[in-house]
Amino acid sequence: MSTEQTSINPIESLADLRREFGEHGGVNMSVEASTTFTVMTPGTMPEMFQGRKAAPEGCYLYGRHFNPTVYNLSAQLAALEGCEAAYCTASGMAAISAALFHICNSGDHIVASNTVYGGSYALMHDFFPVKANITTSFVDMTNLSAVEAAITDNTKVIYAESVANPTLRIVDIPALAKLAHSRGIQLVIDNTFSPLLLRPADLGADVVIHSMTKFINGASDIIAGVVCGTQELVQGLMDLHTGPLMILGPTMDPSIAAKISLRIPHLALRMVEHARRAQLFADKLAAFGVNVAYPGLSGHPDHELLRRLRCADYGYGGVLTLDMGTEEKAHALMDLLQNKYHFGFMAVSLGYFDTLMSSPSTSTSSEMTEEDMTCAGIGQGLVRMSVGYTGTFEQRWTQLESALREMGAID
Ligand SMILES: *Cc1c(COP(=O)(O)O)cnc(C)c1O
Repeated sequence: MSTEQTSINPIESLADLRREFGEHGGVNMSVEASTTFTVMTPGTMPEMFQGRKAAPEGCYLYGRHFNPTVYNLSAQLAALEGCEAAYCTASGMAAISAALFHICNSGDHIVASNTVYGGSYALMHDFFPVKANITTSFVDMTNLSAVEAAITDNTKVIYAESVANPTLRIVDIPALAKLAHSRGIQLVIDNTFSPLLLRPADLGADVVIHSMTKFINGASDIIAGVVCGTQELVQGLMDLHTGPLMILGPTMDPSIAAKISLRIPHLALRMVEHARRAQLFADKLAAFGVNVAYPGLSGHPDHELLRRLRCADYGYGGVLTLDMGTEEKAHALMDLLQNKYHFGFMAVSLGYFDTLMSSPSTSTSSEMTEEDMTCAGIGQGLVRMSVGYTGTFEQRWTQLESALREMGAID
């Protein structure tokens, strides 16, 4: 890797994708509502079940397997992530568990980041060992020698979030990919926090996952996920005997796929504005001496790394954190911001058009043990903000400043 990212803006590959028009020439694709599909000759069906005929060549079998509308959205996500193939799922957790179940068998081992989404942590820390005899070592992903030291003969996956939740540490995807591939291991990256900003597959990741519930959908009204990778991966996920998507069945509904496809075209505009506002807030907060973490600040430990890996059109992402020191102060700030100043909402999740605020230690990371939380640097006073773009920036800053002043956090 040279010093500056040279990859194209991901939106360009999406624009190159063939448009799917509606059945009657509509500008939007039609929703394929059928769960089953006719075949023209009796011989076709055995061929399909033997895997010799399949989507996307126009042979669809059954809605839990592949659906044309879901398939179309999946092709858009594959283009966005620069992957050969992708398939959408009913949730981000479905995408994560299916990808890991596909790569790992009983007895296998995962090396995972110690700062991951609470559900992903529970999956690997609690669920997998009991239900599937798959074990995980959690390590500091920013420490390559710690990652290397955790690898065993049974390690099949290195798992990390491109931007860690909620610490906002960035992982060095090219370095991790190099390490993983030298040991015959696959690098799986959850890119939920940084669609468009980072394209992990270009940087060497083998599998890229999104919870589309967040930025990609952007309206906090849909739960959805996607797994992106090779054609072989997607076929494996749908294998009639051992494919975790086919067998466990966390299928995306085609009407959901159609809805999300209408939000993809303005994803870039939204990501630009989320990031622009987050940077403005972070700069002002830092200037006032507030303990703010944002990768766009030159003092952030991974500022240079992200600058090198990112697509610069999307700034440094739409999430920042404030450390208020104690849980009481974190809660008091959020209370003021929501109930007195109407700055945003106390709610988990991210990527919404309004600002969402949560205290990770008592919500989205509460699955973690206290010790693991301390290790990962998730303080009790942390407030995570997914910065929205409603209202004017000046209006929002006045609200935030007033609340911080009232708290005595700035003078
Ligand atoms: C929300 C989230 C998930 C889980 O996604 P769901 O769509 O809620 O299943 C996974 N990873 C990250 C980083 C998330 O923020």
